[in-house]
Amino acid sequence: MNQTVEELVAFLSTPQKIIITMHRDPDADALGSSLGWASYLSRKGHSVTVISPTDYAANLRWLPGMSEVLVYEKSGDQGKCRKKIDEATLICCLDFSALSRLKDLGRVVQDAKAPKLLIDHHLEPEHFAKWMVWDTTAAATAQLVYALIKEIEGDVPTTDIFDIPMAENLYAGIMTDTGSFRHGNVTPAVHLAIADLMLTGFDTSRVHRLIYDNSPLSRLQFLGYVLSQKLIVLPEYRTAYMVLTDAELVRFHSSPGETEGIVNYGLQVENVVMSALFIERKGEIKISFRSVGDFSVREVSSTYFNGGGHKNASGGRTELSIQDTVDLFLSILPKYQEELLKVD
Ligand code: 5GP
Ligand code: MN
Repeated sequence: MNQTVEELVAFLSTPQKIIITMHRDPDADALGSSLGWASYLSRKGHSVTVISPTDYAANLRWLPGMSEVLVYEKSGDQGKCRKKIDEATLICCLDFSALSRLKDLGRVVQDAKAPKLLIDHHLEPEHFAKWMVWDTTAAATAQLVYALIKEIEGDVPTTDIFDIPMAENLYAGIMTDTGSFRHGNVTPAVHLAIADLMLTGFDTSRVHRLIYDNSPLSRLQFLGYVLSQKLIVLPEYRTAYMVLTDAELVRFHSSPGETEGIVNYGLQVENVVMSALFIERKGEIKISFRSVGDFSVREVSSTYFNGGGHKNASGGRTELSIQDTVDLFLSILPKYQEELLKVD
């Protein structure tokens, strides 16, 4: 056991009041890892509250334990969240490495007196946490939660530690962050973790279906529109991009979360190495980048778009107009042309 885990075990040997929070617009890894960790801590006798900084996508509402999650941005929840954070003796920060990823909740967490535990797999974390369980080679934060629990529990059999809801939450996180086990972040450790979690008897196919085959018809029709009208391919830069304006999102009644995953379609085009999606929602510009091979979209988003993330999946934001944001993107492509062309 390393020193961090030893200290955590000692700290968790008496009942604590624990907050678990994750990045804004949480995805299945952020929520699944948080809910899995929450179940484990509750079973150990701690009092646990999970707080999301913002609302989340409709296809994640079924995740076990979700009905208990507080949303900081909801006016009805905010007072409760502040009170819980004030009383907390530990704040767990999952699936993000910078407090700015918590939106308005970031300041509250920063000012809170409770010690923090970071569990994350993003690059270059800020140093705000007393304890860090941090590994950029992990495919998902849910994988880190699984490994941490296994390390704490030692020889205890998996089925005595994990139950079906915990396994479903952790599986949802690992499955989505690996693109259903097809991205470059898949390692033997990923499959071994899944094999072990499957001993609980949960239905992997059901989890997949509830997340991916659970769209309102309108979302698929919106996707059809985006792919047929909005996908632009620049073969000379091996780049695909899509721009969605506020007016289009309103026209198709596309809610936050429903645009999740659309950026990946750009990578399905032959020879494309980088895909970008620009979304204007209520005047805010959000950008998603995906890449394959050695081309780092993290470098692109952290250099030009106030963002970060992973080598092959990153995101950012600008305060420019949507047109100026896209123009900026197009203007930097020549700088990356050589690197884009040499990817296998
Ligand atoms: P997505 O495109 O799915 O929103 O984000 C992909 C990845 O990029 C996320 O897992 C996260 O690591 C990173 N990311 C997205 N948005 C931001 C952002 O605004 N700032 C930073 N630092 N990273 C981001
Ligand atoms: Mn993640």
